Amino acid sequence: MATKRIVSPAASEEDRQSDLTLRPQKLDEFIGQTTLKENLSIAVEAARMRGDALDHVLLYGPPGLGKTTLATIIANELEVRADYTSGPVLQKKLDLTGMLTTIQGRQVFFIDEVHRLLPDIEEMLYSALEDFRVDLVVGTGPGARMHSIPIPPFTAIGATTRQGLISGPLRSRFGIVLRLNPYDSVDLMRIVFRSAGLLKVEIQEEAAEEIARRARGTPRVANRLLRRVRDYSEVRADGRVDQEIACTALDMLEVDPLGLDEIDRKIMETILAKYSGGPVGLNTLSASVGEDSSTIEEVYEPYLMQLGFLDRTHRGRVGTLQAFEYFKLDPPGGAQGLLGY
Ligand code: ADP
Repeated sequence: MATKRIVSPAASEEDRQSDLTLRPQKLDEFIGQTTLKENLSIAVEAARMRGDALDHVLLYGPPGLGKTTLATIIANELEVRADYTSGPVLQKKLDLTGMLTTIQGRQVFFIDEVHRLLPDIEEMLYSALEDFRVDLVVGTGPGARMHSIPIPPFTAIGATTRQGLISGPLRSRFGIVLRLNPYDSVDLMRIVFRSAGLLKVEIQEEAAEEIARRARGTPRVANRLLRRVRDYSEVRADGRVDQEIACTALDMLEVDPLGLDEIDRKIMETILAKYSGGPVGLNTLSASVGEDSSTIEEVYEPYLMQLGFLDRTHRGRVGTLQAFEYFKLDPPGGAQGLLGY
């Protein structure tokens, strides 16, 4: 299902390849998120002046907004090494021990999806983050001994899409907590221009604007749409991208003018047409759309809410008048009928 993949904020293999070219390396190349950047640059500068390790950083926000990029930037700004891992990859204590015992002073240790750490691994991380030591149990049975190995102060950077799933003790060990918000279309346009420059794509302003508008507030999606539009232009035109080419290519990919794809449309049509505007429970929605409830909640709903198409209420999801209008459907009892929601 091409459309499902094209606007998904989750990284594909192709995205990872293109990240190597497009990922900003320094803070001043990182577009938007002004307040976050200011806070971060002060903290980085202070740590650098003191020669200390930067405090541990927790980055949270939807996928594709730049968490991994920021971890790389922090390491570059501090001029230190960065090691990367993720919650689901760390399956055994030994996996984490191996990484922690080779850590260098002041380096960055990035843990993606930090909310998915197994409980015993999370516990092991506590002493590493707080006291800079790794506790190892050597031997088994009654002869087992606990060894504590000191490690140099370092900076852990945790990234999560689900801040609510981070346990209190883990959260409290991060001195700097930063939230990434969806990008507005002006910032997304700047990102499209920057990427087009790096990919050597000639693009008109209106075309960049069109891509930005359909990118769901997400740089990863903007970069992906740009690559698809470039492909189209190289094959069907002369490689230059104007608004007409951008629109034709994006329409062909079934990304609508607001960046909605097939799943978004199914979600909204279920609420608006099948359940007359709602309320609809998340599980019912999930069964009806054929997408698991956490994906609906984390990936699709935030953007639909940002557009003002959907509200979460204690009784379930409800569609708004704006959504009825956009999908050209009549609200039950006319516009007045919706006011009770
Ligand atoms: P996350 O880790 O939050 O899922 P990434 O850091 O992998 O997101 O970002 C996805 C891609 O989007 C990056 O490779 C980068 O090219 C681009 N990107 C993200 N944020 C920015 C930004 N602020 N400015 C420019 N490009 C960005």
